[in-house]
Amino acid sequence: MADRVVIVGAGQGGFQAAASLRQEGFAGRVTLVGDEPGLPYQRPPLSKAYMKDGDPKRLALRPAGFFAEAGIERVGGWVEEIDRDAGRVLLAGGEALAYDHLILATGARNAMPPVSGLAEAVAARAVVGLRTLADAELMRARIAAGGRAVVIGGGFIGLEFAAVARAAGLDVTVVEAADRLMARVVSPEISEHFLDLHRGLGVDVRLGAAAAAVEPAGVRLASGERVAGGLILLAAGVRPNIELAAAAGITVGNGVVVDGRLVSSDPAVSALGDVALYPGPDGESVRLESVQAAVDHARHIARRVATGDGSDYAAVPWFWSDQGAAKLQIAGLRHHRHRTVAVPGDRRVVLSLAGDVLKAVETVNAPAPHMAARRLLAAGQAVTLSEIEAAGFDLVALAKARA
Ligand SMILES: Cc1cc2nc3c(=O)[nH]c(=O)nc-3n(C[C@H](O)[C@H](O)[C@H](O)COP(=O)(O)OP(=O)(O)OC[C@H]3O[C@@H](n4cnc5c(N)ncnc54)[C@H](O)[C@@H]3O)c2cc1C
Repeated sequence: MADRVVIVGAGQGGFQAAASLRQEGFAGRVTLVGDEPGLPYQRPPLSKAYMKDGDPKRLALRPAGFFAEAGIERVGGWVEEIDRDAGRVLLAGGEALAYDHLILATGARNAMPPVSGLAEAVAARAVVGLRTLADAELMRARIAAGGRAVVIGGGFIGLEFAAVARAAGLDVTVVEAADRLMARVVSPEISEHFLDLHRGLGVDVRLGAAAAAVEPAGVRLASGERVAGGLILLAAGVRPNIELAAAAGITVGNGVVVDGRLVSSDPAVSALGDVALYPGPDGESVRLESVQAAVDHARHIARRVATGDGSDYAAVPWFWSDQGAAKLQIAGLRHHRHRTVAVPGDRRVVLSLAGDVLKAVETVNAPAPHMAARRLLAAGQAVTLSEIEAAGFDLVALAKARA
C-alpha cells in the first residue's frame, strides 16, 4: 500500500484529495504541489460573487492552520517532469519528490481559438481569460474603470461575467460563434431562457458571431463587423493540462485517460477533475469541468489509496451557474442526441431523455426539483416518459415516493 502520496495541482480537486486522504485515515506522507500563490481556493466565485464584491473570504478552501494540523505538506512550484521509473516528480526549481502513488490534479487552462492577434493580446494581458484569482483581480480593476466590455464566448463563465459587468454599469457585448448560448452543455430551451435573461439585462448578445481578430479598439467578427470594447474577456472553453502526463508516456486523449477506478495507464498514477477523462454514467468517456467532479473524484481516489477499496466511481454529475438573478442547476449528463421535455406547467424545469428514460434535469431557480432529480438519478431507478406525461407529474413528489 502507498506510503507517500504526491498530488500535482493544488486547486479544488488536489486540495480535496489531500483532505480526504486524512479523513479516510491515511497515515503516510501527503504532499500537495501547486504553482499558484497562496492557499488553495475555489474558482466558482471568481466569475460571480467575488467579481462583484472582491471579498476574498469566499475563496480559501481552508485556513492555513488546517494543513499543518492535518499533516499536509504544501509545496509551491511547477512540476516539470514525472520520472515514473524512479517514482518521483521533478520541480522546475530542481527539487524532487518521491511518491508511491501520484495524483494528477492539474486542471485545465483557457482555450485559445484561432483569432488573429489573440495570443499576443493574451500574452500582453490586454485580453484576459478568467481562470485564476490574479485574472479575477485584473478584471475587477477593469470593470471599475467602466466603459465597454466584449466577451468572447457565450458559455457559463462568459455569461456570468457579462451579468456582473452589466450590473456594474458597463456596456457589454457577448459574441458567440454558435447559434445559441451554452450550446455544448444545455438544452435549446435553457439557451433560449438565458438569451432572454441577458437581453433583458441590456447585454448585447450576438449569436453566430465568430471573433476573427482582436484589434486595439475591440474585436472584429468574421462578418467584418467591429465590436468596440476596451475590456475583452476570453471565455471560449478550456483545454486539459495533459502535457505532464503525456511526456511521461501516460495515456492521454482529451484528458488523462483513467479507468472506472480513476487509475491511469500507470497503476501508480490517478487523475481527477478537469484533467481526467473517465468512463461516464453510460460508459462513454467524459471529462467534466465542475466542482462536483473534482471533489467526488478526489474522495473516490483517496478512499482507494487509503483503504484499498477498488470499486468504480459512480457519482451523479451535477453543476450550477449563477447569471444575474437566475441560478441554473443541472443534474445528470445531457447529450445533444437527447430529446427535451418541459415539465407540463413548469417552465423552470427541463428534462432530457434518452429513448424514454430520464437522463438529466435542468432547473432555473428551482432547487427542490434539482435535489429531487439528483436523488432519482443516483438511485438508478428509471423515470420514464409515460410517468412524466401523466397528469400532475411532480419530480419532488416522485423522489419522495421512491425514497
Ligand atoms: C471562473 C470560473 C468559474 C467556475 N464556476 C463553476 C461553477 O459555478 N460550478 C462548477 O461546478 N464549476 C465551476 N468552475 C469549474 C471548477 O472551478 C473546476 O472544474 C475545478 O476547479 C476543477 O478542479 P481541478 O482540481 O481539476 O483543477 P483546478 O481547480 O483548476 O486546479 C488545478 C491546479 O493545478 C495547477 N497546475 C497545473 N499544472 C501544474 C504543474 N505542472 N505543476 C504545479 N501545478 C500545476 C494549476 O495552476 C491549478 O492551480 C469554474 C471555473 C472557473 C475558472
